[in-house]
Amino acid sequence: MIKTEKVLHLKSSRGRKVRVVREHYLRERVPCYSSLCQAECANEGKVLSGDVTHYVVPDAGVARDFMEVLEFREIQGVVFTQTACQAVQHTRGRRQYNRLRSLLKDPRHDCVLFANEFQEYSFCPREKGEPQDKWQTRCVYQAAVWYHDHLAGLKPIVMITEDQAAVVEYGSLNRGVYILSTQEYLRTFWPGLQAAQELYCSIAQALQERGSEGTEREYTEHLPAEVLEAGIKSGRYVQGTLNVNKHRSQHEAFVRFESSSNKSTELNSDVLVCGGKNRNRAVHGDMVAVELLPKGEWRGRTMALTEGQGEEKGEETQSQVMPTGRVVGILQRNWRDYVVTFPPREETQSQSRNSQRILVTPWDQRIPKIRISTQQADILQDHRVIVRLDSWESTSLYPNGHSVRVLGRAGELETEVQTILIENGVHVAPFSEAQLREMPVSSSERPWTLDPEQVVTRRDLRDTHLVFSIDPLGCEDVDDTLSIRKLPPGPRGPRLELGVHIADVTHFVKEGSLTDLEARTRATTYYLADRRYDMLPAVLSADLCSLLGGVDRYAMSVMWDLDAQTLAVNKVWYGRTLIRSSYQLHYELAQALLDGDEADVPELVKLPPGKRDVQLAQLIEALETLTHVARHLRAQRDSGGALELEGVEVRAQLDQDKNITALVPRQPLEVHETVAECMIYANHWVARKIQESFPQQALLRHHPPPRQEFFTQLQDSARARGFTIDTRSNKALAESLDRAVDPQDPLVNRLLRVMATQAMSNALYFSTGACPVDQYYHYGLALDRYTHFTSPIRRYADMIVHRMLTAAIAMEKGAGPAKASASSKELEELAQHINNKNRAAQHAQKLSTELFQCLYFRDKDPQSDERCVANAVIYSTRANGMLVFIPQYGLKGAVYLKNREGEVVSVMQDGRCEWKAGSLLRSLDHISTTTASGTSTFNLFQHITVQISVQPSRCHSDTLHLEVVSSKPHRTPEPQGQTTPPQGTRGRSRLVQEVVRQAEEASQQAEEKRGRASRISREEREFRQSKVPNLYCLLEEVRELALLDITGCGVGLGSAAQPCSASA
Ligand SMILES: [Zn+2]
Repeated sequence: MIKTEKVLHLKSSRGRKVRVVREHYLRERVPCYSSLCQAECANEGKVLSGDVTHYVVPDAGVARDFMEVLEFREIQGVVFTQTACQAVQHTRGRRQYNRLRSLLKDPRHDCVLFANEFQEYSFCPREKGEPQDKWQTRCVYQAAVWYHDHLAGLKPIVMITEDQAAVVEYGSLNRGVYILSTQEYLRTFWPGLQAAQELYCSIAQALQERGSEGTEREYTEHLPAEVLEAGIKSGRYVQGTLNVNKHRSQHEAFVRFESSSNKSTELNSDVLVCGGKNRNRAVHGDMVAVELLPKGEWRGRTMALTEGQGEEKGEETQSQVMPTGRVVGILQRNWRDYVVTFPPREETQSQSRNSQRILVTPWDQRIPKIRISTQQADILQDHRVIVRLDSWESTSLYPNGHSVRVLGRAGELETEVQTILIENGVHVAPFSEAQLREMPVSSSERPWTLDPEQVVTRRDLRDTHLVFSIDPLGCEDVDDTLSIRKLPPGPRGPRLELGVHIADVTHFVKEGSLTDLEARTRATTYYLADRRYDMLPAVLSADLCSLLGGVDRYAMSVMWDLDAQTLAVNKVWYGRTLIRSSYQLHYELAQALLDGDEADVPELVKLPPGKRDVQLAQLIEALETLTHVARHLRAQRDSGGALELEGVEVRAQLDQDKNITALVPRQPLEVHETVAECMIYANHWVARKIQESFPQQALLRHHPPPRQEFFTQLQDSARARGFTIDTRSNKALAESLDRAVDPQDPLVNRLLRVMATQAMSNALYFSTGACPVDQYYHYGLALDRYTHFTSPIRRYADMIVHRMLTAAIAMEKGAGPAKASASSKELEELAQHINNKNRAAQHAQKLSTELFQCLYFRDKDPQSDERCVANAVIYSTRANGMLVFIPQYGLKGAVYLKNREGEVVSVMQDGRCEWKAGSLLRSLDHISTTTASGTSTFNLFQHITVQISVQPSRCHSDTLHLEVVSSKPHRTPEPQGQTTPPQGTRGRSRLVQEVVRQAEEASQQAEEKRGRASRISREEREFRQSKVPNLYCLLEEVRELALLDITGCGVGLGSAAQPCSASA
């Protein structure tokens, strides 16, 4: 080893230059991390594939400015030098450096780090007077040459640099390394990767323009990091996350601080930040430091509800003053990819004095306009494009950014769906070939078979247990099955054995494999209104992990040895099993068998009558015993206060091709509850098991009790109908909701349950080590421990839990403390990641529903089209209007009774409504308007007629606008009894179908017009992995908790009309 010195010139955060001398040790053996290594390097972990045409070594400047381009997974064989990585670290900050590090770690990217400065022969000391960038380029070149020699010329080595002089200088040396500019490299080696070339141009353009900034200051400078840190410590500044008010994005933002960081004792609320100057270039989501203004300058938040399009200046009522401040520095930028819309041509021209700079408008209203440099403004007008932010200087009114990818024309279905996905951080590229290569083969030529080793190690239930599944008709991905049988009597009397057998997904998906990483990144299967994106490849989800009837399958089982009389648990067995399901039942069939109705069981049809009767009797007996057990379990939970909330009663009806033809209300069959109860039981017992085995690092799911103040709306609304809702405990709430039934109008109870659901907090995953034991409780299910075990095909949490259960079993068998796969901290981070992804999935689903609603109504004339007029029920009053629910379309929204001209809605004799000058008075159970012609009153739960229209928006999503046209119901509301389907459910699927059909027609027409390839490109087609949304799974999720707001499947305008505090 050779000792030398290395001199670094760093810039401190204040901009001072610092000279640092470090001791530097050189070694002969530094691993090359190439699978082609001839020198037996100690290449542990990730290595470069040998299966590429060349290796590419980016210069420091390329790594610094064009890392995004190198992030394309298609670009393989990338060697990042230590020199380049350090350049990123020193010039681009921690965030960018971490991004590079995770790129290097991620096995899905074929790139490695070569520690060139530690390698004796590739290190070159900096010469006196040599500029830093020249020296870095020389180092990288030297490293490339070393790499070439080290691999004995087996692979061509290409070095890419933005330094044209270097291309000329080193290109002539003939030492076996090719030198190219980045652009030339992309053109030569990746001609098919158009997106990478475009991204390159976009970044290059942005860099070029950056140099020509103005000098006039628009904002105050941010304070240096040391000053901020000291200020936060001393309590002078407050640290928190900036939240922009979506409805007043220009003017109003709040800083939500972490209580721990807050030293100022008088602060117990958010800090208000008014206007752009005070926001000082902070972007929604950034971690900022704020300084409070003198109390005399404090202001209040704006309270009145406003329609999306504008403010009613005179109407603004301000609440009490609250701490108000200004941003003095940014602690961490949390910028992501933003979807923006390019301005129409007129606007780009008016901006054109600055040649190619244009202002684009983000889809997310909370994000400021972004200035980008492009030559494509003309082509891209009215398109939606992904952009990234680069910088926001104090001299610039707007932040600078660059475009990354074009999504398509605004308003087209595919563009809008992709927008929703990207805005929610949902990335669902098709499964890569490398991932699919990890999958077992299962085809008609090469059918999948049992592994003899597995047969030996698993408990074989094929001959001993009657296993069956109960799912909706047509279900393909069966992830759970059941069994029940009598056991020989024990010392305390007769015994029963209940079994829950779940698809053994983790047998096929090894921890850390590419498929596992992808599933972890996705965390869940995503369900949108017209499609779904699976978490796992189809060979698992629809085949090998689907517990179909009559085939051998691996399972993870929980089996309870129960006292047949008291149903007390004698013993629980957990383990891997081998099953063969005998019956694949659907709910209606199972219920018919239980009810003693005539029903054909497909599996028995071909048997001789005698044998058939015996088997049928066995099956019915099993179903009956199961029902008995489930009733008992449910009663146990009920006595503890389990909640039955709204959102359960629709199911998907499928045609022969497994397309959903309708959503019909699920007959409330007892067998649904029976299956659900068994799954809840299994989840509960697995939670107990893993928590016992790993008290500090088990993945559980809890449901915190709701905050009492969120129940106000529910209680007020119920009182209007003479009901009292007791919210003191889950049990009291459940019982009082059960009593709040209006025999005249079933919608009353349904809406009350919706409101109860809205008041709930979300159920969340957590690591037991990160949460005190008294907070493990699951409020909705009334269980002290809970987790997710029963759906590993579509939830990553269940896969983690399966692995934990496996480790717990191994530990019990004396395999020593199984390697705890993750520390509590890591597990907690993973739990947060899954929680975030679930939130994103729900949000994307809600937005996609709203998108379809808007597309459906977009081309209909509200004045003449009957479909735009509907019956609505008032469920809440607001200062200037009310919130209504429209059963026919399953949507909720705000109806305004006062407009911007100050007119109010007045009701005529026949119920028709007109706008007139007047005033408005709101109370808890009604809202009245008074005009010259008299007083009109709207009561809670009153049925009225509304007209639905679309409020188009060029840059954001369209919204629905509701206007009251009559104070009377549109039609006599159909009795919404248990036998009549609520119209909403059917209305919605018809709506989705019509919108999809329109979109396809439109794209076909466009295709004919342009006379070229299909508008919905093959890529886009492949992008969606399944056209058939599996609503079954969705509904099962809801059923388990009923905490999702899928009331009539729609969410509508409610959120747009509620004050931002309600969404907190
Ligand atoms: Zn080597």
